[in-house]
Amino acid sequence: MIWSERTFIAVKPDGVQRRLVGQVIHRFERRGFKLVGLKLLQVSKNLLSQHYCQLTKKPFYPDLVEYMTSGPVVAMVWEGPNIVQTCRMMVGHTNPAEAHAGTIRADFSLHVSRNVVHASDSLEGAQREIMLWFDGHDLLKWDCIDQSCGF
Ligand code: ADP
Ligand code: MG
Repeated sequence: MIWSERTFIAVKPDGVQRRLVGQVIHRFERRGFKLVGLKLLQVSKNLLSQHYCQLTKKPFYPDLVEYMTSGPVVAMVWEGPNIVQTCRMMVGHTNPAEAHAGTIRADFSLHVSRNVVHASDSLEGAQREIMLWFDGHDLLKWDCIDQSCGF
């Protein structure tokens, strides 16, 4: 098990506007993952173009920019074993219509253009996104006071 793996998760503007932040956080806490970074921010077009650098030529990109800048985003870094892959599974397919029941996108959304959450898709992607969205000193290393409350 790789205990130190980290991933970048964001509640997108539709998730914040629909008051789903707590429910999204609850899923990752319930699974046992550790929150090590958290902030609410209005995303700039510049940050977005770096975050979605592979998508800027896609026909839906202008709509994606409008969506992602329509209100604040909750940006988070979570830690735990095999977290990148597990969080992608918990978030579900990009298109909610194809997502399995029980995943966040299936349970809370209907359309690919309003799919509530972002999760990094690989370890390399996670490292890149964490560096893009967070200053290192805003990520906290912490331990449980005893073994009973987690790793
Ligand atoms: P994921 O978020 O699952 O990693 P992608 O990286 O392919 O998916 O796309 C990033 C985001 O762009 C998606 O989560 C979604 O918000 C938006 N998006 C992707 N494909 C489409 C599409 N065909 N139409 C509208 N928006 C899309
Ligand atoms: Mg992606």
